[in-house]
Amino acid sequence: MKKILIGTHNQGKFREISSLISKKYRKISPKALGIPSPHETGKTFKTNADLKASFFSKFVNYPVISDDSGLCIKSLNGKPGIHSARFAKKHGGFFKAMKFILKKMKNKKNKSALFICSLSFKYPKKKPINVIGKINGSIAEKILGKNGFGYDPIFIPKSSKISFGQMLKSKKMKMDHRYLAFKKLKKKIKIL
Ligand code: IMP
Repeated sequence: MKKILIGTHNQGKFREISSLISKKYRKISPKALGIPSPHETGKTFKTNADLKASFFSKFVNYPVISDDSGLCIKSLNGKPGIHSARFAKKHGGFFKAMKFILKKMKNKKNKSALFICSLSFKYPKKKPINVIGKINGSIAEKILGKNGFGYDPIFIPKSSKISFGQMLKSKKMKMDHRYLAFKKLKKKIKIL
């Protein structure tokens, strides 16, 4: 069976990316191979996604797919953005980070936000192929729902009345930024 390394230590992302890739592939995690995470030194989602794919690719002789994603909030100058994971860590986890964001957003008129995902696919010894997916929406007034992962409970996609956290996982996975990026990637890499 063909293999693909899904270059992430984030369980939620691993599940989502796995479910998007054809059943013909055995999906391998860096954790299973004892590979650590690289330092995310890039200044953009694209640079970080490529950096991760290139890093993980050094350990295997089959394709790698990595993503860099995050929540960008307009009234907070695009924050937490590429620092979404570090932001949550700094605040003591996602629940506390979401509470902090909700407090900051309380008096803001503009609740617009978007999730961005940069996906990077890399064949061994080749340059990464990169695509970007975005989904617009708004920040909720409070934490809504327990589904999904990360910032899902405070993000309401534009086409919906409920948050990602209230949505069935199967529904979120067929509309979010990762899905939109993956759709673009599939046009470039037919084998997925
Ligand atoms: P990184 O790409 O590993 O640097 O982390 C991105 C951060 O954004 C993580 O903390 C994720 O939990 C968060 N994030 C990315 N995509 C989603 C999503 O679909 N839902 C909720 N949070 C997300």
